[in-house]
Amino acid sequence: MFYFSKSKYCGLWQCPKIAWLMKYKPEERVLDDSAISRMKTGNEVGDLAMGLFGDYVEVTSYKEDKLDLREMVAKTRREMEKGTSVICEASFSYEGMYCAVDILKKEGDGWSIYEVKSSAMHQNQREVKPVYIADMAYQKYILEQCGVRVTGTYLVCINGDYLFDGVLDLQQLFITTDVSELIGIEEKNVADNLAMAQNLLASEQEPPADLSERCQDPYLCGFWGYCTRHLPSPSVFDLYRMPFKKKIEYYQKGESSFQALQGSHSLKSEKQLRQIEYALQDKGTYVEKEKIREFLKTLSYPLYFLDFETMQPVIPICIGTRPYAQIPFQYSLHYVEKEGGELKHKEFLAESGTDPRRALAEQLCEDIPANVCVLAYNMKFERGRIQELAEAFPDLATHLLSIRDRMKDLLVPFQSGFYYNRAMGGSFSIKSVLPAMFPGDPSLDYHHLEGVHNGSEAMDIFPQIQHMCPEEQRKARQNLLKYCELDTYAMVKIWEELRSVAAE
Ligand code: SF4
Repeated sequence: MFYFSKSKYCGLWQCPKIAWLMKYKPEERVLDDSAISRMKTGNEVGDLAMGLFGDYVEVTSYKEDKLDLREMVAKTRREMEKGTSVICEASFSYEGMYCAVDILKKEGDGWSIYEVKSSAMHQNQREVKPVYIADMAYQKYILEQCGVRVTGTYLVCINGDYLFDGVLDLQQLFITTDVSELIGIEEKNVADNLAMAQNLLASEQEPPADLSERCQDPYLCGFWGYCTRHLPSPSVFDLYRMPFKKKIEYYQKGESSFQALQGSHSLKSEKQLRQIEYALQDKGTYVEKEKIREFLKTLSYPLYFLDFETMQPVIPICIGTRPYAQIPFQYSLHYVEKEGGELKHKEFLAESGTDPRRALAEQLCEDIPANVCVLAYNMKFERGRIQELAEAFPDLATHLLSIRDRMKDLLVPFQSGFYYNRAMGGSFSIKSVLPAMFPGDPSLDYHHLEGVHNGSEAMDIFPQIQHMCPEEQRKARQNLLKYCELDTYAMVKIWEELRSVAAE
């Protein structure tokens, strides 16, 4: 019955190839972890926003585990006729085109569309993404074709400035913006876009859309792997620290391969040139021993290696935090008390379903003495979390800030280009540096871990633990502990390797 949806329209609006691939090659779509978690967040926020106007009727219906669109359209019609004033997931179809409105609200002699997005907006910065406007213009068009008088169009986003005081206030959590003016401009394009879509989707011939700046948003696309399958590997898109726009320029000039880039006189960055040189020829490991020695001299015993895991709830759960705040719930700590001393380990993992910050901060102060040297990998993150803990718990601030202030960053030797080999592929994240330094060592391989292999899996699993049975809880906690422990053990191994190359 239905062949065209809101997501296909938005895909088409962003790049015609997206809509075509969604129809003809949906299996090629790969959404990364962050895109999937954004979708989950979107659903969570959408559910909460349903209560924004008090009582409502939600028309979502399922048949054999799939959305029953036909029933949803019929239910919407019934609710509108009954005079229901707030209908959630209100569904409409017109000539094979379908849309569901997050919140449809009766206002005067017409209806207003409220589109809910999980992205944060700030009071003094209300920039609206153009694709949101395209999305809403499509909805308005379908509703009007169905004979509904649309009198308002509003975008509902998370209020990034909202401070949670223990009781969730939906009116404060969301920011509603009247986007009627922008819709008025965009809606003129909808009929033409749909006619174009009809031609495009009728043909089995893949449209010729080529890579461009619009490819940067993986959330709307997911076809990056498919569209770049013709490129050499590595290519300009694997180059260290080059803006996407610049990469596209090289691609459009036909300079995608590392060979072509090596001959390009416009490439000046020493680190990018080294990445290319080492990729084209296996020259072993590039080491600047003196610089590494200087870095190692800045460290002192007792030496601690710290790593946090955090969650980032869009709907705040901890008092005094805002949407999307990073809340630390776990850490791993390896430490060596003196030169040649034994490697010891401590760890903390909060109870799922609680505010983890106080217990974590207290334990951290017990586990790390004041004024010692603490190593983190990309310390900006750990320092930021410690600063926030110090602000939340002034009685612990002196100790916490002494940890923050003596922190050193193990990323420095890599980011500064003192150590590089081709296996790092231009990335200095610990997940790239570790296997490049210790290829084939199973004890340092994140793939060998059970259940939790990266920070976003840890972030996903921790809040779910409270709903698990005891056996699953035990297993999930064990997996989190093992994962975080490997992060700091990896730092120890990297530090040891740096000492070893500097001593040669
Ligand atoms: S990767 Fe780029 S060209 Fe390919 S479908 Fe996505 S946006 Fe379009």
